[in-house]
Amino acid sequence: MAAEKSSRFVILYASQTGNAEWIAKNIHQEASERGFVNECHVMEELDKFDLSKENVLILVTSNTGDGDPPDNATKFFRFLRKIKSKTFFSHLKFTILGLGDTNYTNFNNTAKRLERRMIELGAATFYNKGLADDAMGLETTVDPWIANLWPELAKVCVQKGKDDNKQDENIIESVKTISINDKAEMSLSMETLNGQSVDKKMSIENGNKIILDLSELAKVEQFTALPRIPNVVCKIIKLNEKKNINSSTLPSLINTPTPIVNARLDAVRCLTHPEALKRTIHLELDIKDYREKLEFIPGDSFGIIAPNNEKLCLGILKTLGIDENEANQEISVESVEGTELPSHLRNAKSTSIMELLRYGVDLISLPRKALLRLLAEYATNEEEKKTLLFLCSKQGVVQFIHLREQVPTLLDLLITFPSCKPPLERFLDVLPSHQPRYYSIANSPFVNRDLLHFAFNIVDYKTPDPYNVRKYGVCTPWLDNLSGYVEERNKRVPLTTEINIPIFMKPNPNGFAVPSDISTPIIMIGPGTGVAPFVGFIQHREQQIIAEQKLNNIEKTFGEMWLFYGCRDIEKDYLYREELERFSNHGILKELLVAVSRASNAGLNGNPKYVQDLLRKRGQEIYELLDQKNAMIFVCGDAQGMAKDVNDALADILVEYGKIQKSDALKILIQWMSDKRYLRDLWS
Ligand code: NAP
Repeated sequence: MAAEKSSRFVILYASQTGNAEWIAKNIHQEASERGFVNECHVMEELDKFDLSKENVLILVTSNTGDGDPPDNATKFFRFLRKIKSKTFFSHLKFTILGLGDTNYTNFNNTAKRLERRMIELGAATFYNKGLADDAMGLETTVDPWIANLWPELAKVCVQKGKDDNKQDENIIESVKTISINDKAEMSLSMETLNGQSVDKKMSIENGNKIILDLSELAKVEQFTALPRIPNVVCKIIKLNEKKNINSSTLPSLINTPTPIVNARLDAVRCLTHPEALKRTIHLELDIKDYREKLEFIPGDSFGIIAPNNEKLCLGILKTLGIDENEANQEISVESVEGTELPSHLRNAKSTSIMELLRYGVDLISLPRKALLRLLAEYATNEEEKKTLLFLCSKQGVVQFIHLREQVPTLLDLLITFPSCKPPLERFLDVLPSHQPRYYSIANSPFVNRDLLHFAFNIVDYKTPDPYNVRKYGVCTPWLDNLSGYVEERNKRVPLTTEINIPIFMKPNPNGFAVPSDISTPIIMIGPGTGVAPFVGFIQHREQQIIAEQKLNNIEKTFGEMWLFYGCRDIEKDYLYREELERFSNHGILKELLVAVSRASNAGLNGNPKYVQDLLRKRGQEIYELLDQKNAMIFVCGDAQGMAKDVNDALADILVEYGKIQKSDALKILIQWMSDKRYLRDLWS
């Protein structure tokens, strides 16, 4: 006899950047429309749900850092850890959707851990978990996973007024060409954050038309697997036409884990030669007014709240026909009845359209299919509508990939499909949240606790052939502009004008810090800007040594410090060379090893190209440090290739000198990670 179905189910999500929240809320909404009684909550709000009374559960979670749970999953994990009974969840059937990225070693670790723990506690799965990969586009997994969820859910949960036969929209006509309007150009003076005038003659951005090959569209008779039209959630309420909101104070839209403060830009130094492949800038922020609030140690990082590019915001306003005056008037964002605002818009109670564009929503990350579907709903031109539906359908998947390769901004989409003019509030339903940008602190408070140093590459690149469109990041070009585009290499330029940067500290839960036991040897691996926290580590250690010397504590032994660093051209992008060589000459650094990847002999005849080659080369000594002296390993930098390759090199060293199998070596490294002896701060 079939088991009795549950009358309802609950969805719990944990989200770092808003994607998991968005997907969970969409499942919630669609499930309701399909006749399932259900609730949707963020995992940390433990008082909002009671799993002892639920029989069916859907978990949606993303990952952060190196496969760690999002911040708002911490309480739920703690709750699961405390449960002792192995039958605690024996009444519960569940499934899980994980959002991860294969560029990181611990792909979808949070979803896997959650699944393991739920099963340990007696729960059974009713539908196979989905593990979406951002490297491939989350939708590739998420959309079919959700489509196949419904019949499985119906087996365990009652579905009232069954509406299972929802048809995908069919469009039969063909599309020939799309006509695009000419672009208009304007020039105006403007102010940006804190009233700092930057680039007085800043023009409105024109956007770039997206190049699409629509030859396949003519052959398509039916569009299938279309995403749902996004739910109507947000509405804009006009509050006061006379009151202008113009970012003159701290940005208040973004939720941050610690309070935001305005740190004064104190000095700038360009770390690279003008001909270097990437331009790298070192900045110093004065934080002496916030000594109590902003305590830090090397290894910590902090967030910067940078506005979206002003030209881009103005371009969007113009394209949507919103005049600047209206854009600055006080408004509030509310949810329509029966819905809940996305958490990133919860603070939008006294704001303006301009504020929302600057700080509320992401205008430049890869568009979701749901955005294209939304635009299609508002297209008054039939050809544009068909093209948009094609792009988000199964039939248009190749063109959707080509569209993403062009990294279109919201403005690029609006000028490519000029008949689409949704009201701004509809964009709020579908655009991801604007994110703070995080940087590692590159100095020690033992040297100067009133300053925060950090370094970054200016994000400025071209999309691949045949598009070749120049693209910029949000925060780094903004900082470069504010600090005056300094060209001269390695000259510290004090900044005398009052320029404030909104920042907040990011708690560092992973122990990525100089060990408190000063006798522990430290192996640091950080190519490119990944070296930044290690400059702080070494400064810190130098000050510890000086302090001990002052106390005449000569018998104190300090663990060796080894730094593996990588750059492309020793003359052009060896970052912090002066400092690192001084540390090495003074013996603070026992070994300073530099791999120069574009040197003419790099990678030839056994010459190292990358940090991992240097590690292998010094494998015997590394092994001894690890095996006999309990050394700690720190890796910082690019998650996409370097971190994996370094992990592999470390495993090979354990295999070669420890005479063990590779699989055992990999297990040891995982164990060291959980023991916080092997720590990684990775960025994609
Ligand atoms: P990068 O300039 O792109 O590269 C530095 C060196 O690493 C180059 O010589 C490069 O060589 C080499 N490299 C390329 N692939 C590698 C691989 N698989 N293994 C080892 N080395 C490899 O570095 P970056 O742009 O500074 O990036 C470092 C990363 O650190 C970024 O993801 C950045 O976001 C992150 N990060 C930033 C901060 C910060 O506070 N700003 C702090 C920590 C980390 P080729 O190009 O010649 O192949």
